[in-house]
Amino acid sequence: MTDRSEDFRIETDAIHAGQEPDEETGALMTPIHANSTYKQDGPGEHRGYEYSRTGNPTRTDLEANVAALEGGEYGRAFSSGMGSINTVLNLLEAGDHVVAGDDVYGGTHRIFTQVYEKFDLEFDFVDTTDHDAVRDAVGESTELVWVETPTNPLMNVNDIDALADIAHEYDALCAVDNTFATPYLQRPLEHGADIVSHSLTKYLGGHSDVVGGALVTDDEELDEEIGFYQNSVGATPSPFDCFLVLRGTKTLPIRMDRHCDNARELARWLDEHEAVDEVFYPGLDSHPQHELATEQMDDFGGMLSFELDGTLEQASTVVEGTEVFTLAESLGGVESLIEQPAVMTHAAIPREERIAAGLTDGLIRVSVGVEHIEDMKADLQRAFDAAL
Ligand SMILES: *Cc1c(COP(=O)(O)O)cnc(C)c1O
Repeated sequence: MTDRSEDFRIETDAIHAGQEPDEETGALMTPIHANSTYKQDGPGEHRGYEYSRTGNPTRTDLEANVAALEGGEYGRAFSSGMGSINTVLNLLEAGDHVVAGDDVYGGTHRIFTQVYEKFDLEFDFVDTTDHDAVRDAVGESTELVWVETPTNPLMNVNDIDALADIAHEYDALCAVDNTFATPYLQRPLEHGADIVSHSLTKYLGGHSDVVGGALVTDDEELDEEIGFYQNSVGATPSPFDCFLVLRGTKTLPIRMDRHCDNARELARWLDEHEAVDEVFYPGLDSHPQHELATEQMDDFGGMLSFELDGTLEQASTVVEGTEVFTLAESLGGVESLIEQPAVMTHAAIPREERIAAGLTDGLIRVSVGVEHIEDMKADLQRAFDAAL
């Protein structure tokens, strides 16, 4: 566990960082500055804002807030998590090489291979828990090591310190997608990462009502470069979306506490359940990187997967049969979600390849919400009874 270097703890920053009561009216909340352009006091004499793609006051507050949560100096917000990932790739040049985990988010794999290979970026996907494999993959042309932890849906935990060290030996950037853990549980900049990437759509927004992304860094030059691409590409969030995420981040710490408590309890219950073969949750002693997770994270998060002792069809019956858990992709909202990777989030992977990667037919992923834990258990029990 690590300490935050800033003045305030994350519970306080979540509510106050980047947000001052309005000077004129005293209004506590950041207004939604639904505004595209700004009056200049003379030609070229603006008060910090010229045009809302380049900068908007509601966005500025969100960017400062997310940066503070990560314990970073500089934040930039985007219209989606993919918008932020795209911007990291904009920092590279044709011929550059990227090393990423072989179980990265599907959209990340897609933008890497189907969008940027076309522009002559090269990608290698390796098991990032195997540092020898990462060392074998990096080379002189490597400019970026992309890390996700915990990963989706098997909840593998990657060692950020070690992977950042390998990246830096080759003068490459280490970027960490911190969407699953959130800064409440894990702050990659403290472990040597250069850039933290977020899908604000998930826990930071927290209410399944907005799509957004963010990048945070401690390096001023890097931030300016990111800002250049943010403005040039234009995948910027609307002021209303920024307002929604700011509303979400205020309660991030208290929501995460409940997400973690519920997930821990549910993981233990599933682990002892006769209908379940295996549970994937970093908080369980049996998890292969439990010790690393204990060091790197302050708690283990709200995401878990389990393998039903049954067929693909029986697993489908379970995910269709729940009431507290809604059958849906995505994650990180207050409501519990359930999905079957084999036919939903990971359906694009050919079956043999998918099973070899551990994504079996009976695998079920849940985003554990903040409802009552006993209602969740009873709900799953009813679905198991109906399916098995
Ligand atoms: C959802 C997600 C993304 C993409 O974010 P969007 O907001 O959907 O564009 C990237 N990484 C991870 C880990 C995600 O879960």
